[in-house]
Amino acid sequence: MRVVWAQGKATSREITQVLEDKMNWKTSTIKTLISRLVEKGALDTEQEGRKYIYSAKLTEEASLDDSISDMLARICNKKAGEVIGDMLTNAPLSQSDIEELMSILKEKKKTALDVVACDCVSGQCECQVNLGGELNE
Ligand SMILES: [Zn+2]
Repeated sequence: MRVVWAQGKATSREITQVLEDKMNWKTSTIKTLISRLVEKGALDTEQEGRKYIYSAKLTEEASLDDSISDMLARICNKKAGEVIGDMLTNAPLSQSDIEELMSILKEKKKTALDVVACDCVSGQCECQVNLGGELNE
């Protein structure tokens, strides 16, 4: 996807060339990947003569937003802070990135609760099991 995002539009030959050079992938692997992305609706295809031209359906930003909400939906609300902390620890950040993050956190702090409540479906995380235990007592 990043190849297509970087180029706007790309033929399968262009995508294949970049991935072969940079990632050392086999042509067949790349072709499978491309057709899977088309099936999933992530890539649009246009036929131009005998060539297929691929373009991204979602912008890189929209797709990132999607994967971040997907990730947050997969974990317990109570664990979001820890996961984001891990991400921060491992992310390469510039001074200005850090300034920006600090101002986001400062803003969040104004309205943050003392304790984040779990919103998992019952049985999906440990805190719900504990909560159920308390209710049964
Ligand atoms: Zn939970």
